[in-house]
Amino acid sequence: MDLAEAYLSNMDLYSSHISKLIEELQRLPGIGTKSAQRMAFHIVNMPKEQVDNLANAIINAKNNVKYCKDCYTLTDREVCPICANEKRNHHIIMVVENTRDLAAYEKTQKYEGVYHVLHGAISPMLGIGPGDIKLKELITRLQKDVEEVIIATNSSLEGETTAMYISKLIKPTGIKVTRIASGVPVGGDLEYIDEVTLLRALDGRIEL
Ligand code: ZN
Repeated sequence: MDLAEAYLSNMDLYSSHISKLIEELQRLPGIGTKSAQRMAFHIVNMPKEQVDNLANAIINAKNNVKYCKDCYTLTDREVCPICANEKRNHHIIMVVENTRDLAAYEKTQKYEGVYHVLHGAISPMLGIGPGDIKLKELITRLQKDVEEVIIATNSSLEGETTAMYISKLIKPTGIKVTRIASGVPVGGDLEYIDEVTLLRALDGRIEL
């Protein structure tokens, strides 16, 4: 056991505040014990002003960001700028898993339709069912004049399960349902894929 570990194992003796901070940081996605410890010690050594800015940014984001009432993306407004834009084609809806995926498609500046953000994907293994994502909300939107639903969930098992579920749900309505072309790396988050690949996947979409 080195000194740092010895310190950490006795951490409560020194500061329960640091333990608490580590505990909270560890709840974040992708943050393990080691990273949480590193971040916690870094934070307590930061200038007070910087720590205040960080804490305020977290609280302000949480308090002011809400779901767009149409597409459910995260936004500061009632209706997000994309849904509010009359130049967009409101008859084509692209279904994505999260706001980051929406941002990835927006970066291509080629997609002219609107979006629907599910905030997750169906995962029987993780106990996430259709009722846990914004699916009902999607079905409600389809009562308006919709020509096509493009399913752009990830090519992971969860993404494919979700795509299949949605297509089965929509098919009977007669609305055209398409799925972005594969070629998007399996399990790859859409946000990490370059714009050319995204456009190719969109252009090569197939009807389900
Ligand atoms: Zn919106």
